[in-house]
Amino acid sequence: MKTVSVNDMAKSREERVLGQRALLNKWQMPVLSLSMNIAGPVKTSPLIERGFDLMLSNIKSCLQKEGISIVEERETRAFTGCAWLAAVNSDALTLKRLSVALEDKDGLGRLMDLDVIDIQGQKVDRFAIGQPMRTCLICDKAAAICARSRAHSYQELFKAAEEIIRTALCEAIAFLVGDCAVTALKQEVDVTPKPGLVDKEHTGIHNDMDVPLFYKSAESLRSYFESCTKEGYYFNGNEISELMPKLRALGLQAEKTMLQTTKGVNTHQGAIYALGIVCGAAGLKLRQSPALDVEKILKSAGKIAENEKSPRKLLDARTQAALGYPTIRDHALPVYHRGLEVGLSHNDAAIEALIACMAEVDDTNVLRRGGEEVLLELKRMAKAKRQTDNPKQAALELDTYCLQKRVSPGGCADLLALTLFLNRLKIKGGHI
Ligand SMILES: [Zn+2]
Repeated sequence: MKTVSVNDMAKSREERVLGQRALLNKWQMPVLSLSMNIAGPVKTSPLIERGFDLMLSNIKSCLQKEGISIVEERETRAFTGCAWLAAVNSDALTLKRLSVALEDKDGLGRLMDLDVIDIQGQKVDRFAIGQPMRTCLICDKAAAICARSRAHSYQELFKAAEEIIRTALCEAIAFLVGDCAVTALKQEVDVTPKPGLVDKEHTGIHNDMDVPLFYKSAESLRSYFESCTKEGYYFNGNEISELMPKLRALGLQAEKTMLQTTKGVNTHQGAIYALGIVCGAAGLKLRQSPALDVEKILKSAGKIAENEKSPRKLLDARTQAALGYPTIRDHALPVYHRGLEVGLSHNDAAIEALIACMAEVDDTNVLRRGGEEVLLELKRMAKAKRQTDNPKQAALELDTYCLQKRVSPGGCADLLALTLFLNRLKIKGGHI
C-alpha cells in the first residue's frame, strides 16, 4: 500500500481548495467537501473506498430527502485519499446542520469530514450552528484534544477506522439483503394466477391463508434475513459448510416467529430454509467484494448446504440447496429474464419462471399430498406448457389440475421467491 508524505498531503489539500474555489466561482453556491478522517500514512484501501462509497450514498440520500439538489460534483480517488466536492443548491447554514447530523449520526459519520464552504469562500464551523466539537474515535474526549496530545497511535486509530467501516458495511449489506428478501416474498405471493397456490385472486387449495397473511409473515422474517446475512458476512471458519448449523439455528427461531405471526399457519417454512441459506451466501460474497455476482452467490449457497443432499433420489428443496440451486441458475432466472426481454409483464415472466420450476423440480409438497403419480403428471403438464404465448392461461390450466388433485407446488413457489430475490438484489446491489 502506497504511503503518503507530509508534502503529498499538503499538495492534495491545496488541490481540494482549488477545486472548491472553482465550483464556487462557477455556480455561486455553497460547496460540500467530503474527505475521510483516516490516521497514519496509508489513506486508502479497498475497504476504505467502500466506506467512502457508503458515505457518499448516505449524503446523497439525505440531500434528496431534504429536496436539495446537487448542481455539479467532482470525485477524486488517489493514494492521498478519497474526496468529493459538490456545488449544492441550498444555504450554507442548512447544509452545515445536515453535515453535522451526518457526522454525528453513527460510526461511519465519525470518519467523515464533511465541510461546508459558504459563498464567501469561508468554511462554516460547528460553532456557527451551536454544535460541540467532535469526539475522538477511541475515547470520549474531544477529538482535537486527543490529536494534540497524540493520545492514540495512528495504528490504533487506523484499526478503529477499519473496524467502523466493516461494521457499517455489514449493517448496510444486511439491510439491503433483508429488504430484498422480504420484498421478493411479497412479490411472489402477488404473482397471479398461480396453480394451487395463494395469489391475489384465489387462495388455491389453502383456505387458511391469503395475501395479507403472507405479507405479515414476510415482514416478520425481516430481522431473520438480516441475521443470516450478518452470519455470512462475519464468517471466518475454514469450511463454508460450517455456516449451515448457525443458519439452521436462526431458521428454527424464525419459524417460531412466523407461527406466532400467522397464529399457527405455515406460510413460509420452505422460504425460511432456502432464503436463509442464500442470504448467508450473499453476506459472505458481499463482504469479499461489492460486485454482485448471482452465480457466485448460488455457488456459495451450494457450499454452505453441501451436506444437505436429500437421501431420497429427488431434486427436492434440500438437494436444490446442496447443488447451489441449479433450477434457478439454469431455468427460472433465464426464463424470467427472457420473458421480460420479449415484452412480458413482470407478473407473466414470473409465472413462466414458476412453470419452469414445476417442470424441473420434485416438489415434495405435491408428492406428500398427491403421491408420485400426481407429481409426475404435474411435471409433464408443466413441461408441455413452458413458454407458451399466454402464461396466465397456462397457469389456469395447471390450476384446474392442482385443485382437482388438491395439491399445490409450494416448493416451486419458494424457488420463485428466490428467483425474484436474486433479481432484485442484482438491481439494487450496485451501491454497496
Ligand atoms: Zn481519544
